[in-house]
Amino acid sequence: MSELKDKMLFREQGLIGGHWRSAASGKVVEVINPATGKVMGMVPDMGGDETRAAIEAANDAFPAWKQKTHGERAALLETWFALMIEHVEDLGLLLTLEQGKPLEEAKGEIRYGASFVKWFAEEARRIGGHTIPSPTPDRRIVVLKEPVGVCGIITPWNFPNAMITRKVAPALAAGCTVVIKPSEFTPFSALALGVLAERAGIPAGVINIVTGMPAEIGNEIMANETVRKISFTGSTRVGSLLMRGAADSVKRLSLELGGNAPFIVFEDADLDLAVEGAIVSKFRNGGQTCVCANRILVQASVYDDFAARLAARVNAMKVGPGTQAGVTIGPMINEAAIAKINRHVEDALAKGAEIITTPHLLPDGAQYTAPVVLTGATTGMQLAVEETFGPVAPLFRFETEEEALAIANGTPFGLAAYFYTESLKRSWRVAEALEFGMVGLNTGAISTEVAPFGGVKQSGLGREGAQAGIEEYLELKSFHIGGL
Ligand code: NAD
Repeated sequence: MSELKDKMLFREQGLIGGHWRSAASGKVVEVINPATGKVMGMVPDMGGDETRAAIEAANDAFPAWKQKTHGERAALLETWFALMIEHVEDLGLLLTLEQGKPLEEAKGEIRYGASFVKWFAEEARRIGGHTIPSPTPDRRIVVLKEPVGVCGIITPWNFPNAMITRKVAPALAAGCTVVIKPSEFTPFSALALGVLAERAGIPAGVINIVTGMPAEIGNEIMANETVRKISFTGSTRVGSLLMRGAADSVKRLSLELGGNAPFIVFEDADLDLAVEGAIVSKFRNGGQTCVCANRILVQASVYDDFAARLAARVNAMKVGPGTQAGVTIGPMINEAAIAKINRHVEDALAKGAEIITTPHLLPDGAQYTAPVVLTGATTGMQLAVEETFGPVAPLFRFETEEEALAIANGTPFGLAAYFYTESLKRSWRVAEALEFGMVGLNTGAISTEVAPFGGVKQSGLGREGAQAGIEEYLELKSFHIGGL
């Protein structure tokens, strides 16, 4: 990886108990740079045996890690954070090369990812407990908080850095040890985090990384009784599979799953703000985010105006490799993603929608697609029912607030929702009526380490970030002291 200043950040091995290892079988998985379609490197295709070894290493490291003071764990996390910031250029580049997003966005993800490490280093010092007034005079009751134990961390390709730190930082801060299984499409960002964790002095076995195809690794994580918790970000399909698989050994679960975010523009909205918000929410990461606006609902009286303004902004976007200056939409992750986007657009066009943006110049390569704005979207279209996960902005027309809310809530998903209005009364009414875990009013950006992130309904269980994030990795133990 000649492009990196610090070439040691590019590792093509997994990390188990402090040792960088290949697969016992010698098998590898090729990682493709989506901008070129060429192999950028290879990682071991590990299976059940390596996963078991990683779980054992995490279990061996657990007692000593748990025994460290909160301040000691916090200091190691602070050092890890500082190293991420120091290497933001290399980490960002590596992320763009394996995932595709524009370089500035990739560096933004590194800073966002690092922010969780900083935040949970601070939270480590605030893991308290509490006392409970005793029902009898000769007793005292205290509630202790203890780490859950070994955690399996399974993450997606769309945020290869931040989805890991959002889980690993609170786990480590709480005193847990982890086995990470990054996406097979984007393992290098995870491995670079492993290199920096070693340099930070985080002890061997506290962070283990197994790479490879998911089935065998996932089966071992689900079945192994030493793993006390699984934290997963990814599709609802795999999330429910993990839930079933974790049932036999009754593991704790945190699930951050798919979304189908509504983005509602009321007629009393500031349209400039709404267009800006739609650009941020819909087109960041080429539309490949779980919280990105999937259905843009616009009130009839401002529909044409909003559509024209949004289309003008989208026409000015530039599609190309994420490393090229000025590019706003990088390649999609793979050809299956392109096929899904095309399927959704073709279905919408066949059912009466219309593309109002002008065609973009696309670079050579099978993984590029043009950003489009579609008018005339309706709830019977595929893009209304499932995440498109691409730069497609379908505009739905509505007449009344009740109608908008019915469409917005008419989905089994409940991750993020956005709406734009200048009315105070409407703000509260709509915010309270939306059945989603996160709601943005007059903003398209809701991801920050300081606020709880997570969904309701089929978008998941639990919360990440904020004070709530660390509780996911802590058990309560009530301690009754009698005979006083
Ligand atoms: P995915 O579910 O296909 O894969 C996610 C991870 O699960 C990957 O590491 C994959 O290898 C692994 N996996 C797949 N099959 C498995 C199995 N049988 N056992 C164990 N692990 C298995 O999702 P993806 O395509 O990588 O990511 C996109 C999805 O993630 C979208 O649905 C998106 O909405 C969701 N997502 C959600 C959030 C959130 O915070 N809610 C954030 C980012 C992405």
